[in-house]
Amino acid sequence: MKILVFGGTYDPIHIGHLLSAESLCEILEPDLVLFVPSAVSPHKNSVRTSFENRFKMLELALESFPKFRASNIEQTLGGISYTYQTLEKLHENYPQAKLFWAIGEDNAKSFDRWKNPDKILELAEVVVMSRSDSSNSQNENLKFYKTRLVDVSSTEIRERVKAGKSIRFLIPPKVEEFIQAKGLYQ
Ligand code: ATP
Repeated sequence: MKILVFGGTYDPIHIGHLLSAESLCEILEPDLVLFVPSAVSPHKNSVRTSFENRFKMLELALESFPKFRASNIEQTLGGISYTYQTLEKLHENYPQAKLFWAIGEDNAKSFDRWKNPDKILELAEVVVMSRSDSSNSQNENLKFYKTRLVDVSSTEIRERVKAGKSIRFLIPPKVEEFIQAKGLYQ
């Protein structure tokens, strides 16, 4: 069994996340795809949206796609979400599975400064969603794959909502309705 895992803040999930995931699925053909929102990210200290709301938006985005699931593993672990601990837990939950940990090209450059990079590489194959197949990392263990990139970020979504601008087609309609109903990012 192959499990492809995407970590992130998902504040909120957007079509950039979904389309790059779909394009990596075409290459790796996983049996299961897990989106793992961070509880407390070591990389970002400004997440204001609750874990529950970020998780709910993931569930709404993924509900029609049984192979794609939101995982609350980092909330269960508690504290700062370090990737190696998340992978240890996933390995415990799925001892037979081959785990792939997907990261964006922006994160590949700093990979060697993450906590316990060797442990991460022991537990999973680290795959980089990239503009090209060639590596930009010092670490030769990272595998680069060319995936579809869409020019959108969660920051842009939050800023557009705050400014009263349209986010139509940048995120799934149900997620847009949820943001409106909850008054997020105002
Ligand atoms: P923010 O704007 O708040 O920093 P973000 O849009 O980068 O958020 P995250 O949840 O932090 O989203 O990202 C999770 C992962 O998705 C990261 O590895 C990031 O590189 C990747 N990612 C983010 N936006 C895109 C995009 N448009 N296309 C492909 N991958 C993306």
